[in-house]
Amino acid sequence: MGTVRAWIIFLLWALAGAAGASAEPLDRVTAVRFVSADDHTRVIIESSNELKYDIFSLSAGSQRIVIDLPRIRWSIDGLTAESGSGKGSGLVAGYRYAQNTASTSRLVLDLAAPALVTRDYVITPRSEGVNSRLVIDLDSTSDTAFVRAAEADRGGHKTEARKVVRKPLVVIDPGHGGKDPGASAPDGTQEKDITLAIALALRDELVATGRYDVALTRSTDTFIELEDRVTKARDLGADLFIALHADAGKDRDTRGASIYTLSPEGEKRAENLRHKNDWVLAVETDQTRPQEVNQILADLVTRETKNQSARFAQTLAPALADAGWPVLENTLRKRGFYVLLSPDVPAILLEMGFITNAGDEAMMTSQTRRKKLVRGIREAIDSFFDTETRVLAQR
Ligand SMILES: [Zn+2]
Repeated sequence: MGTVRAWIIFLLWALAGAAGASAEPLDRVTAVRFVSADDHTRVIIESSNELKYDIFSLSAGSQRIVIDLPRIRWSIDGLTAESGSGKGSGLVAGYRYAQNTASTSRLVLDLAAPALVTRDYVITPRSEGVNSRLVIDLDSTSDTAFVRAAEADRGGHKTEARKVVRKPLVVIDPGHGGKDPGASAPDGTQEKDITLAIALALRDELVATGRYDVALTRSTDTFIELEDRVTKARDLGADLFIALHADAGKDRDTRGASIYTLSPEGEKRAENLRHKNDWVLAVETDQTRPQEVNQILADLVTRETKNQSARFAQTLAPALADAGWPVLENTLRKRGFYVLLSPDVPAILLEMGFITNAGDEAMMTSQTRRKKLVRGIREAIDSFFDTETRVLAQR
């Protein structure tokens, strides 16, 4: 795995040198968008062409993050203007933009709370007529850490500062919701309520460790399309996706958890979905690179994502058993579930237990007894990221 990553990085580095400079007309920035969850905000800047950029933090006066660009035409949401401003979301209160010097333009993010840039990259689409995207991930931080980062930026040490602060982002997907209740217990308890309650408990458990950013695909009793669950995880740049469900069986004695990863048939579906939605992987960043090379890189990422999903599933099964949670025999299974189809987010679906079994239902609905489950999942996540941290730092 390490070798594959190292190889990708080498290839990117080698190819970067091959990309030549050319005389360009003025590129256009067409949109500035935000996706936020808890203490994590992703900024997406859409442009007609791949942007060269420089990012740094400023702490003098108010806290802000500055993105310097070559001179561009601002044409945000169809409005062409020399300068302007807009509303932010999450960690960003708002943004301002203008031409800065004769040859540069500047976008300023005014922060609502201290935040650090943990990741930034450009996504170049494969299809005609689709915009290039500059993606900037922000994580909340302390005032002291922000000032330190701003000082490091001034001294030109920003890369090190960023790698240290990046927390893995775990997206929890409580199954069903709203008009879709899922399975039901003989006493009328509904799956959608169990999945939400346990998702919220798991979020609290993970946030308490201070090691993770956590986002939920839903935090209330609302209906969400499967596609939107996957899209949200991808938009946020999730490092791990966990779908929570409760099983139902004809035999009321059947009980225990089972863990699903993507089946071989599902992999074909995932590939189709990726092309249908033009889900560009972060690694496919450069149009000047030969198409075949991008394809190789994308395949490597997809395979690595699959390996990571399998590794997490293999960690989770014994962790649940160790925590005292009932686990089915042959607990590791494969299916083509829609929520597992993201090509670049490691994902598993956990059937926590059988809502049709009185013992499982009692354990899943009891606030005290389901702590075992939540602790088991958290311990599996801890050991998963203990070994994945190096990979994250390279992204
Ligand atoms: Zn379900």
